[in-house]
Amino acid sequence: MLDAQTLPALPCPDCGTEVAPHFLICPGCHRLVHAEELKKFAAEAAAAEASSDWTAALVAWRSALELLPTTSRQHQVISGKITEIGWRIDAGPARAPETTPASGGWAGGAAGLGTLGLMLWKFKFLAGMILLKGKFLLLGLTKLSTLLSMFVTLGAYWSLWGWPFALGLVLTTYVHEMGHVMAFRRYGLKADAPMFIPGFGAFIRGRQAITDARQEAQIGLGGPLWGAGAVAICLGLSLATGQLIFAGIARFAAVINLFNLIPIWQLDGAHAFKVLSRSQRWLATAAASTLWALTDQSNQIGYTVLLFVTICSAYQAAFVTPPAKSDRLSAVEYIGLMVLLTLATWFPIPLP
Ligand SMILES: [Zn+2]
Repeated sequence: MLDAQTLPALPCPDCGTEVAPHFLICPGCHRLVHAEELKKFAAEAAAAEASSDWTAALVAWRSALELLPTTSRQHQVISGKITEIGWRIDAGPARAPETTPASGGWAGGAAGLGTLGLMLWKFKFLAGMILLKGKFLLLGLTKLSTLLSMFVTLGAYWSLWGWPFALGLVLTTYVHEMGHVMAFRRYGLKADAPMFIPGFGAFIRGRQAITDARQEAQIGLGGPLWGAGAVAICLGLSLATGQLIFAGIARFAAVINLFNLIPIWQLDGAHAFKVLSRSQRWLATAAASTLWALTDQSNQIGYTVLLFVTICSAYQAAFVTPPAKSDRLSAVEYIGLMVLLTLATWFPIPLP
């Protein structure tokens, strides 16, 4: 660990005043202390943008942002750039980079179909990622803290449900968390590897501030998106092998991912709701209450979780001020995930 206080003060290159290392502005001449580094990052970002490497551009801009006082005009300009590049990343290869994003609202069936297509493209991309790029998935396992916390959780679940179910639960949770890590990286943000907490799940801690609400929502939804992918793979394995254990794992993982969609506190759903308009929130409430009404009461956990999703969505829709600009993709993903995960909990397999 590096304590900024113990670093030596350096003279300002412009006026020679001693400047403490955590200062961003020289107290003597009021110029930016890190002007040289800022120039370097700006050049890196420009080069990355020129070659359409948007994630690399975001990494450079975010590094620059950390060297600027939050009240400065440069900070504002670069935050704007980060938001704009986030849009380009999400637009995917199919869309021209110059298209300006459509703001929220549900008008226009064609636009809705476009969003659906984009979501399908993303799902295909994600499925390919999970199946083919296993290398990235293993990345989190190189961290000792992740491995240790994972083994402790595995041990706890093992004593409750036996090792196959315990392993399935830990692995599906891990895939969910890596979905968040992947989204962090896509937007050029640094994030720690997942930490497991037995009985609770796991969490990821970001190491840089997320300046854009839509990127925050997409990072929040990244976990359940990958989690749903893991559920689908488990269901596929169950159908292919006839082993009930896979269906049991799929069903339990589906409930956990559904739980994470409750729009409250620090749960993934709360991040997504930050960019949902009032009407989108009511639509999510209607979807949740319909699914809840259709869910068999014998499916106790799923039934209860959906009730919580309904109550919290309705609360958000009625009482929490919606954002000035909503995001249709996040709304479609949120509601789509809720439907798919609920269907997975209906799978007729008893929990162990
Ligand atoms: Zn999550």
